[in-house]
Amino acid sequence: MINKLLIANRGEIACRVIRTARKLGISTVAVYSSADANALHVSMADEAVHIGPAPSKESYLKGEVILKHAKALNVDAIHPGYGFLSENAKFARACDEAGIIFIGPPEQAIAAMGSKSAAKNIMQDAGVPLVPGYHGDEQSSETLKHHANDMGYPVLLKAAAGGGGKGMRQVWSEDEFDDALNAAKREAMASFSDDIMLIEKYLTQPRHVEIQVFCDTQGNGVYLFERDCSVQRRHQKIIEEAPAPGISDDLRQNMGEAALKAAHAINYVGAGTVEFLLDADGRFYFMEMNTRLQVEHPVTEKITGEDLVEWQITVADGQPLPKGQADLKLTGHAFEARLYAEDPQHDFLPATGNLKLLRPPAESEHIRVDTGVVQGDEVSVYYDPMIAKLIVWDTNREKALQRLLSALRDYHVAGVTTNLSFLYNVASHPAFRKAELVTTFIETHHDSLFNQPGQNDDSLVPAAALLILLTQEKRDPSENIRSTPWDIPLAWRANHQLRQKLELVINQQTYELTVTHTGSTEKPNQWQVEHQDKVYNLTGHLEAHTLHAHVDGYQQRIGFSQDAAHYTLFSADGTIDVHYVAPDLGETDDAGAHSDFAAPMNGTVVDTMVSTGEKVKKGTTLIVMEAMKMEHAIKAPADGVVTEFFFAGGDLVDGGAQLLEFKIDE
Ligand code: ADP
Repeated sequence: MINKLLIANRGEIACRVIRTARKLGISTVAVYSSADANALHVSMADEAVHIGPAPSKESYLKGEVILKHAKALNVDAIHPGYGFLSENAKFARACDEAGIIFIGPPEQAIAAMGSKSAAKNIMQDAGVPLVPGYHGDEQSSETLKHHANDMGYPVLLKAAAGGGGKGMRQVWSEDEFDDALNAAKREAMASFSDDIMLIEKYLTQPRHVEIQVFCDTQGNGVYLFERDCSVQRRHQKIIEEAPAPGISDDLRQNMGEAALKAAHAINYVGAGTVEFLLDADGRFYFMEMNTRLQVEHPVTEKITGEDLVEWQITVADGQPLPKGQADLKLTGHAFEARLYAEDPQHDFLPATGNLKLLRPPAESEHIRVDTGVVQGDEVSVYYDPMIAKLIVWDTNREKALQRLLSALRDYHVAGVTTNLSFLYNVASHPAFRKAELVTTFIETHHDSLFNQPGQNDDSLVPAAALLILLTQEKRDPSENIRSTPWDIPLAWRANHQLRQKLELVINQQTYELTVTHTGSTEKPNQWQVEHQDKVYNLTGHLEAHTLHAHVDGYQQRIGFSQDAAHYTLFSADGTIDVHYVAPDLGETDDAGAHSDFAAPMNGTVVDTMVSTGEKVKKGTTLIVMEAMKMEHAIKAPADGVVTEFFFAGGDLVDGGAQLLEFKIDE
């Protein structure tokens, strides 16, 4: 009987597990690093122990330290969440040896699936269909290249120990092979201390469809249907949904049974996910099995009405599965959107900072928010930059999508760059609405997802201008503190000038507007704004986080958040980011934003890839940086030469610092 549970994790998943434990009357122990002393998961647990400094290697990955505390506190079981120790066979064994239940599969099952190559061998023997490829032991570059040449390009290099899209590279031709292999191996080494590679034929338009399986110690197994996780960036999921649209009952059953075959082949126990690639002809191929609870498990919970953490605890307790296959019903449709602190405009680089404003939409039977942070928390460099998971459910996909869009509009975050507007752009995209889901979704629709020049100019540009005018007006004139350069009152208040320029950067595009103050003492908030050949008459007011905008008689309520000169507007037409460029002082954005060769964030230089003075072609990688275990290549914008590198391999670099000087060929 599990009476006391330790959660060897942090953030949203720790909070998620604590919620179920509490529902079941199980007392909880949280663990925390020095960076998390005041974190939400710590305050939610009945007890909490400090396990080390901020870096995960010295805290959340310290199995022996966690186990020592678990023993001292008489813990019955440990839930590892996902990531960290969740797929660590040694840790599972150590728990076992200490007489503590590890809530996950047996050590052998974890080990069997721990290497993608070994897993493929097992699945091949069990008759589960595989993506064609090479997953052998012979690892010399020549052998790997030989196999890639044989199977024909494109191919995908994958780290056998990989996860989270790390150590993975697409290769489109033999010329690119060596560079890609080196980069994938380096990334794999840095992330997993193991650079064994496998090669797969790269399928060009597949869907990622995965099956949730569950097995108990009595040998029973069920599948809880599928999730479609095709919408990905950098091979990492962003929006998942269940069920997968357009899957026939037959295909669902075939995939479900294949997944169970995979689970039984390794005597699986507990929650597991079998990932498949599904091609346009309905053929599916085993990719890998994740031997833990997945980030996206809530969509399965919403369509089945089951609590998967409760199932995990039941099974870990040695009891049979709560339901058999015939008792499981699929109802309605669910989406999960992952809200990350990251910058979609800069290759989804992780962002850090203080969550000055964090207002999620209200939860209901349709809306669920799984998070591990509260307003005022820091998103630090140490951990995954996920802020929350927004989960919605309704009786069909169309309605659920409507809920997702409105919940995204109601999700307000400021202080940290997030992917909120990007999520909105994806979810509102016509191809997404039509469920045209493929893993290349984001690349395929790149232009419409990222650049929206001119989109909604007529309603959003004036609304953005109005917001700036109103927030600037609201400033107390006695507040003469110029702590930031944009704290400059608009000129008509300073010197009663009635007409002036207003420069805004909206979704990366610069707008130069001319503003005339048309208000009076009684009705001060009225302006006429000119943009190119258009003239708008604006009035309105602010109320908490809402802008009441009247543009030429058209009224709109728009949610907004402000962080210094950065504004985000959440309107029915979408989310827009607005940057107010203070008069006379020019652009005051982050250092280096204009510079092509600035370090995208704090990190380390992996290596310089060309020599100074060497002629290089446009697109050649000049320098490679690593931040948060991901590599970022800085490429030549045109043919030319690097005249100087300011950093060398191994150097630490601050975000924004100039990395090199480049001379473009005349
Ligand atoms: P990780 O364990 O790092 O997440 P996976 O093996 O699960 O890596 O692959 C992650 C994603 O990469 C998949 O969801 C899919 O979008 C893409 N992918 C993987 N293998 C292939 C392949 N052979 N062809 C095309 N895309 C693939």
